[in-house]
Amino acid sequence: MTVAEMLRGSRVVLLDFDGPVADLFPKGSGSGIGDAAREPLDRAGVELPDAVRRTVEHLVVLEFAGAHAPGCVEDVERASVAGEIAAAGTAPVTAGVVEFLDACAETGRPVVVVSNNCEPSIVRWLEREGLQGQVAGVVGRPFGRPGLMKPNPALLDGVLKELDVPAESCLMVGDSVSDIEFGRRVGARSVGYAKSAERGAQLAEAGADAITDDMGRLAAALRSVG
Ligand SMILES: [Mg+2]
Repeated sequence: MTVAEMLRGSRVVLLDFDGPVADLFPKGSGSGIGDAAREPLDRAGVELPDAVRRTVEHLVVLEFAGAHAPGCVEDVERASVAGEIAAAGTAPVTAGVVEFLDACAETGRPVVVVSNNCEPSIVRWLEREGLQGQVAGVVGRPFGRPGLMKPNPALLDGVLKELDVPAESCLMVGDSVSDIEFGRRVGARSVGYAKSAERGAQLAEAGADAITDDMGRLAAALRSVG
């Protein structure tokens, strides 16, 4: 199947948030929220593996809490939500995504944001950018249940509640292996958004049907298939 055929066959776009839409934590600014997410675990005396101790990725900390320190998971979640909402106040828009959202609207494809970030942060950002009218729905991670984040297909239940469409006619666009894996598990086609050749190779290996390094180019491709 060519990229044009894949795009033509898609009726709904499932769009990851951090990466293809906004840069939620530009230039390592996630370290503050990573520390805040670790704080409840430290307070409870939970021993952290090195990778969890050092990461700037608060979602890695949240996932660890969900799996190994369930008594702390809600506090870690609260710190994560607060940090994401604060970051949404300044996160820059990804180049080309406004054109992409326009192209989806012009070609009659509803867009549902499907993200491992929390819904209030995404909604805040969309409102700040005046883009809330461009999306049909926002599905974020369920509070306190990090095990249900992508690639777990659970988030699709929220999507299918929003729009009555079969998964095969959905197109997932995301910049992480978990996005591509999510697409594969639910039966959707996927486009990997990769800013480096290394990431592109990882997304292709995960099973992405196509790779792009430019949301504007994806918008143009969508317009050309109509
Ligand atoms: Mg992402």
